[in-house]
Amino acid sequence: MAAIRACSLGQVVLLLEKKSSLGNKLLLSGKGRCNLTNTEDLPNFLKRFSKNGDFLRDAFKKFFNQELISFFEDRGLKLKVERQLRVFPQSDRSASILKVLEDELVKLGVQVICRSKVVDVLVTGGQAKGVRLENGQNILGDCVILASGGASYSFTGSDASGINIAKKLGHMVVPLRAGLVALDVKQSYVKKLEGLTLRNIKLKFSDGKREIVSEIGELVFTATGISGPLVITLSGKVIDLKTSDQTVFVDIDLKPALSIQQLDARLLREFKLNSKKSIKNMLKELLPLRLIMVFADAAGIDPLKKCSQVTQKEREKITSLLKGFHLEISGSRPIEEGMVTRGGISLKQIDPRTMESRLVKGLYFCGEMIDVDADTGGFNLQAAFSTGYLAGESAALNDN
Ligand SMILES: Cc1cc2nc3c(=O)[nH]c(=O)nc-3n(C[C@H](O)[C@H](O)[C@H](O)COP(=O)(O)OP(=O)(O)OC[C@H]3O[C@@H](n4cnc5c(N)ncnc54)[C@H](O)[C@@H]3O)c2cc1C
Repeated sequence: MAAIRACSLGQVVLLLEKKSSLGNKLLLSGKGRCNLTNTEDLPNFLKRFSKNGDFLRDAFKKFFNQELISFFEDRGLKLKVERQLRVFPQSDRSASILKVLEDELVKLGVQVICRSKVVDVLVTGGQAKGVRLENGQNILGDCVILASGGASYSFTGSDASGINIAKKLGHMVVPLRAGLVALDVKQSYVKKLEGLTLRNIKLKFSDGKREIVSEIGELVFTATGISGPLVITLSGKVIDLKTSDQTVFVDIDLKPALSIQQLDARLLREFKLNSKKSIKNMLKELLPLRLIMVFADAAGIDPLKKCSQVTQKEREKITSLLKGFHLEISGSRPIEEGMVTRGGISLKQIDPRTMESRLVKGLYFCGEMIDVDADTGGFNLQAAFSTGYLAGESAALNDN
């Protein structure tokens, strides 16, 4: 988008890409469908950033969700709005988004050179003068825009190399960590549940005393912890606490529609009706098969015990576990697995009106490499498109 905007304003633009093709992360986005933006209004849109959303006001003023939607629709691509105002191409294929961008590069005459990794920005007298490639070649230019992404899914090309170039030039970098990522738990028995999906459960994260955040949704067990859309969305708040060394727990309410009293009454009824059945068989009425043995183990109850022999204390234990299956969060999956990178080039050293570095004239930053990140829902791509557009326009109008 930065290259397109700069070129549309009459500049000669060279786009350097280290991979053999453009847009590899874009192709993966939205599970291959590309949730390119969200039609939320500006105040609600900004709330979806973990912090620093206000930094994007100028970029959004110039080029926001309706402008992005028009950009694609004016070029013949039909879009649709799905639940939670998420925007996707009607084709349900990210490739159709990439194709519009690539066609536009060709139409405008942007020169694209793939397999060319930038390793340095050349600076003379505090002014960017070009870049050096990995093969030692220097390429000169009036301005340089770095749009090299974050540090996750490095096989797509974004391996933090652009952030490191900025660091070498004296820019502060807010420590990089995973955002929108699965969480690990201390209890190794979750391995037995790997792949099991629980729908309509309520997750409550807490520090043991105070609730941090809770929401209803879907959970998927992994080999080492928990994942799924709900966990990924809530992960940021948890990771921030873990990095400050706090203990964090998650309670899975397996029956959020029932109060403890209602659930206890139901259990009492089930125990009476099925007095000759084992606990294991009775629990089939309440839990997915794969969870039953792990659940009985966590409750400390022999799964083969007959319902008629269950004590009141044991029944209360089952009720409390159904309302709060308790796990301790040990951390998050590594940054490589994050859908977005938290941290990045410090915003203190970027002018939000232009995206120009405050340290090096003629050097611009945009996209995930800057210290901005948001929820799932199309917010991260819109931020990348908007900051790219602004950086491209500012570089084109730069008269240094
Ligand atoms: C699995 C997954 C799904 C996602 N789904 C969504 C979604 O649906 N909606 C949403 O809003 N966000 C989504 N995101 C996040 C979104 O894709 C990113 O925030 C966005 O792609 C960032 O754009 P960018 O241009 O800044 O960086 P990138 O898309 O990472 O692009 C950076 C480019 O720079 C190249 N590059 C890097 N270093 C160099 C170098 N030194 N020299 C030359 N080239 C270099 C890379 O090869 C790459 O092509 C998803 C992310 C992932 C991982």
